[in-house]
Amino acid sequence: MLLVPCPNCGPRSSQDLSYGGEAHTRPDPKTASPEEWRSYLYLRDNPSGWLVENWYCSSGCRRWFKIERHTLTGELRDPVLPGSKNGTASDEATNIQGGTK
Ligand SMILES: [Zn+2]
Repeated sequence: MLLVPCPNCGPRSSQDLSYGGEAHTRPDPKTASPEEWRSYLYLRDNPSGWLVENWYCSSGCRRWFKIERHTLTGELRDPVLPGSKNGTASDEATNIQGGTK
């Protein structure tokens, strides 16, 4: 089980959440080229290290949030809600060591 810290609800089982994949910045629809759309929709980095991901708190506050996950160790840090001003959540909800699912 992976323990994921929701910025609103605190640590929750990954079974209470929905994984939304790697976080990307959506290109501007008015100026983006087809190549930028293709990259946004289909290409993923798949790094060996820290990766920013989207998660949905489906059994709690029902909000999307972003969190950094280390792909080798499963460590999680810095959960943030969209539009938060400081870009980080409380210290209590950060740096929780995750296990395997
Ligand atoms: Zn939540």
